[in-house]
Amino acid sequence: MVTEKKWTDPVTQLKGVGPKQSQLFGQLGIFSVRDLMHHFPFRFEDIGVRDIHTIMDNETVTLKGKIVTPPVVNYFGGKKSRLSFRFALDETTIIQVTFFNQPYLAKQLELGQIIGVYGKWQENRQAILGMKLIRTHQDARFNPVYPTTKGLSQTQIIKAIRQAFEDYLECIEDALPTMLNDSYQLLDYPTALYAMHFPQDAQQHQQAERKLIYQEFFMYQWRLVVSRQYAQEKQGTRILYDVDALREVIETIPFELTPGQKQAINEICYDLLAPYPMQRLLQGDVGSGKTLVAFITMIAAVQSGYQTALLAPTEILAKQHVQSFNQFFEPIGLRAELFISALPAKEKQEKIEGLEKGRIRVVIGTHALIQETVNFNNLGYIVIDEQHRFGVNQRQALLDKGEGVNYLQMTATPIPRSLALSIYGEMMVSTIKERPQGRLPIETIWLEAAQSERLESHIKETLSQGHQIYYVLPLIDESEHMTEIENVLAVQERLQVTYPNYQIGILHGQMNKDEQEIAMQAFKSNDTHILVATTMIEVGVDVPNATMMVIQSAERFGLAQLHQLRGRVGRNQLQGYCYLIAQPKTEQGIQRMEIMTSTNDGFVISEEDMKLRGIGDVLGLNQSGIPHFNYANIIEDQTILQVAQADVQRIIEQPTLIESAEWDRLTERIQQTVVHI
Ligand code: ADP
Ligand code: MG
Repeated sequence: MVTEKKWTDPVTQLKGVGPKQSQLFGQLGIFSVRDLMHHFPFRFEDIGVRDIHTIMDNETVTLKGKIVTPPVVNYFGGKKSRLSFRFALDETTIIQVTFFNQPYLAKQLELGQIIGVYGKWQENRQAILGMKLIRTHQDARFNPVYPTTKGLSQTQIIKAIRQAFEDYLECIEDALPTMLNDSYQLLDYPTALYAMHFPQDAQQHQQAERKLIYQEFFMYQWRLVVSRQYAQEKQGTRILYDVDALREVIETIPFELTPGQKQAINEICYDLLAPYPMQRLLQGDVGSGKTLVAFITMIAAVQSGYQTALLAPTEILAKQHVQSFNQFFEPIGLRAELFISALPAKEKQEKIEGLEKGRIRVVIGTHALIQETVNFNNLGYIVIDEQHRFGVNQRQALLDKGEGVNYLQMTATPIPRSLALSIYGEMMVSTIKERPQGRLPIETIWLEAAQSERLESHIKETLSQGHQIYYVLPLIDESEHMTEIENVLAVQERLQVTYPNYQIGILHGQMNKDEQEIAMQAFKSNDTHILVATTMIEVGVDVPNATMMVIQSAERFGLAQLHQLRGRVGRNQLQGYCYLIAQPKTEQGIQRMEIMTSTNDGFVISEEDMKLRGIGDVLGLNQSGIPHFNYANIIEDQTILQVAQADVQRIIEQPTLIESAEWDRLTERIQQTVVHI
C-alpha cells in the first residue's frame, strides 16, 4: 500500500536518515520533515568563487576549476593522510590542491570533474590547502551553517535538508492567500523556504525572510481574531456593578483621577459587565496610578457580590497595597485583608476560612494566595500587579480558584501602544499615558563618580530640607571580591561618616523578610533618611517624601529597570532627582545614560531598551505573555506587523477578497493552533 506523503512525516522517511541521526535531530527539536525544512542556518559562509589574481597569501577563498590529474591519497604516520591533485582554474593557471586527513574525499572526485574548493591560499607553493569540497549546486555563493549538536555534521544536515526538498516539495502549502502574495510580491512559500537554506544570492535570502516574517505575523493576527471570538464565547462571571454606587466611592478619593485613569476604569468596567471573562492588560508608566484603577474596579466586583484578589510580587508591596486600600476605603466600610506566608498560623487559618466562607471580600497578597489551601467562595475578579514577575502557571493557578474569573494584569514596563494593539488586539489593552497632575518630570543627572562636590552638596541640601534619599547599589556577582552585604555595609559606613547627623538604613536580599519590613517601615516613617539598598526597592515602593535617588554603577542596569527605579522619586508635588553614577565602557552603555537623561517617557524608554536588548530581555519573554515569533522581530518589523494586522481585518470584514478555498485553508491551519491569551 502506498501511503500519501505528508509534510509532518517523521524525518526517518528521508533516504539516508536512520534512527541514530533522527535521534540527534530530535535533540535539536526536529522531528518531522517540516521541522527539518524550518531548521534554518544561523549564518552563511560566503563561498563566492574568487579570481586567483585578486587573492592574497593565506586568504580563505573558494576557487572553481577542473581536476586535471587523478586525485592521489598518500598515508603517512599512521592515520594521517594527504589527498592531492592538480587543478586548472583556466587555460593557463594550474594550481595544486591538498586536503589533509580527509582521504574519503577521493571517492567523490574524478579526473575532469569541475568542482569548487574552499580553503586557504598558499602563495609561495601556488597551492590551496583544502578545507571543504564544494560540489556547487550550480553557482551558489553561500554555504549554510546550521545550529547542530554533537555527532551531527553540517554535511549530514545539508544532505537531509536537500533530500527533504527533493521528496516533499509538493507537500509545502502556501497558507497565504494569492491576493496578498501578489500585492506584496512575496515569494511563494516553497521557494521562500528553499531560499532560506540555499539562496541564489543575498537578495533572494532577504526576500525569503520577508515572506516568512509577513506570513508569521499574518497567521498570528488571524489566530488572534479566532482566539478572541473563542474567548468571547466562553462563559464569564458578569460583574453587574452599580454605576452610581461606584461613583460615590470615587468621590471619596481625595484627588481627581487623571483622564487616563478614568478611561482605564471605563474600559475595565465595560469588560467586567460583558458575559465573557475579561483578560486585559493595564499598562502605564511608573507613578501613573495603576493601583488605584485596580482598587476601584475591584470595588465594582465587591459591590456586585463577588470576591476579588490582588496578587503582588513581594510582601513589602502587598502590605503597602493593603495599607493604601484601607486608608482610602476603610472609612466607607471597605476593607482589604493581607495574605502572605509570613502570617502567624492562627491568623492565616482565620483568613483561609474567611476567604472560603466569603467573609473576606478583598484580599491582597503574594504567591501564598496561590497555594492549594486557599479557596474562595465566589471569586469574580483578580488583579496581578507587576505581571512580568509571575509565571503563566501561577496566574492560571489563581484564575482556577473561581469560574470564568475576570483578569487584569498590570505592568510598568509599557510597550508602545501601537505595538501593544498589534500584539494583543484592540480591546485588550488599557494604557495610562500621563502621570497625575502637578508631578514634575524627574531630573536625571549622569555623573562619572559618586565622590563629587555636586552630588554631596545636593545630598546635604535634600537632607536639610527634611527629605529622604534612596541610594541604590547593583547586585554583586560572585567574581567580585565582595559580598552583597559587605558592599551595602561599606556604602552605609561611608555615608554615615559623610553625613553624621542622619540615619542611614539598609535593605538587601540577604536580610530576612522581617528585617526588610522593619527597614522599609523605618524609611517610610522618616526614621532613616538615606536608604542604601540593592534593587529590592525596584518594584512599586511608595514613599513620597523621598525626593532623590542615587544609582551606583548605573551602567549595570537595563534602561527599563533604571526608569522603574527612578520612578520611586517624584511621587508628589516635589521635584525629584535621580543621579546616575556610571562609567560606561561601551557605546551602548553611553547611549543608555544619554537616553535616561534626555527623556522621562516610559514608553520611549522601554522601546529604546527593546531595541538595545531585545523585547525578550526587557519583558522576560516567557512570562510576559508576549508571543514568541520564530523569524520576526516585533520591534524591528513593527511596520510589517501592522500591515499584516490591517490585512487580516480587511479580509475578516470582507471574506470575498480571497478564494473560499483559501479561507478554509487558513481556518483549518489556525484551528490546529489556537492561542489562548
Ligand atoms: P503605579 O502606576 O506606578 O503603580 P501608583 O499606583 O503606585 O503608581 O501611584 C503612585 C502614587 O500616586 C500613589 O501614591 C497614589 O496614591 C498617587 N495617585 C494615584 N492617582 C493619583 C491622582 N489621580 N492624583 C494624584 N495622585 C495620585
Ligand atoms: Mg505599582
